Amino acid sequence: MSFSTRMAEALETRRAADGWRQRRLIARNDTRTLQAEGKRYLHFSSNDYLGLSRHPTVIAGWRQGAPGAGASGHVTGYSERHAELEAQLADWLGYSRALLFISGFAANQAIVHLLAQKQDRIIADKLAHASLLDAAGHTPAALRRFHHNDVESLTQRLASPCDGETLVITEGIFSMDGDSAPLEAIAAASRRAGGWLLVDDAHGIGVVGEQGRGSCWQQGVKPELLVVTFGKAFGVSGAALLCDDATADYFLQFSRHLIYSTAMPPAQASALLAALHEIQGGDALRQRLRDNIQRFRRGAAGLPWALMPSESAIQPLIVGENGAALALSQRLAQAGCWVSAIRPPTVPPGTARLRITLTAAHRAEDIDALLEALHDAAG
Ligand SMILES: *Cc1c(COP(=O)(O)O)cnc(C)c1O
Repeated sequence: MSFSTRMAEALETRRAADGWRQRRLIARNDTRTLQAEGKRYLHFSSNDYLGLSRHPTVIAGWRQGAPGAGASGHVTGYSERHAELEAQLADWLGYSRALLFISGFAANQAIVHLLAQKQDRIIADKLAHASLLDAAGHTPAALRRFHHNDVESLTQRLASPCDGETLVITEGIFSMDGDSAPLEAIAAASRRAGGWLLVDDAHGIGVVGEQGRGSCWQQGVKPELLVVTFGKAFGVSGAALLCDDATADYFLQFSRHLIYSTAMPPAQASALLAALHEIQGGDALRQRLRDNIQRFRRGAAGLPWALMPSESAIQPLIVGENGAALALSQRLAQAGCWVSAIRPPTVPPGTARLRITLTAAHRAEDIDALLEALHDAAG
């Protein structure tokens, strides 16, 4: 089959399954609202949980650095701002070292790719992010998945014999379900089996825990490998791996993602330093977000779609079929609320959903408007 035929067939299959993905052109976006196709909406699909992406000090930070690093960090791309950001992140999160990556996707690929060798095994939560599961699938290590947030299922998989090393992978707060991993029990099981734990806290960092230090801090757990990303609550983009000295040295020597890729722009590192400062002092923002979450959950209790056991900013409504999820999303849009429908393969078949995200930028009346639209749509 030629590339063209293969592509045409795949596209046709996707279209037929109501699975067509479309980028929408967003004209304006201030986290609370967005403008698209000439209309203004309340915006409930942003991961900018604290509204920092347009924060004046973050913008000012961005203006203080060069727009390009000019080289990989191993050549001449590693600046004072990168070093300062790494040092502050490590100190804040209680690790010896932090290493910056260009994105969370790249960080996860780099980590899994570098660590997992033949004979090793990766035991990952079934719902772990695509960047983790894809990477795991591409290593020579065996990939086994455990039932979502199920420590018994993890323990069972850990009990089977393995000649190599074990890498256990989970998320702090799950991106499509919004629930939290039982990190203490997972860390204990992993440690008992002599494994290392990787926690991807993309949705917890900045949002939960003292000073926004994230899910691990909140649950009193220190995994060997912690990934934090900056495209969500930090309001910028990029990621960091938190680890010990030997691991950081190993990555600097051997990670191709670090060696053969241009370092993060200094402007971005500078903006991230400002964002980190806002997050550390961001108790009022986190409180506003928690209030919004509670207001939403209280008001959504009577709806016909199941709410997930989520205390986080991610409050999905499970609709089921793709077509129904799309129709509900369109119905909400007509009522002025922008909520994306998330369909398989991003989520398991039959669990298409509205992924509602709440932020500190929303006002009480915004949450009420969304609830009213949902109750109207429920008829
Ligand atoms: C968003 C996300 C990533 C990817 O991070 P980027 O910086 O956007 O590449 C990785 N893991 C999880 C759990 C995420 O939600």
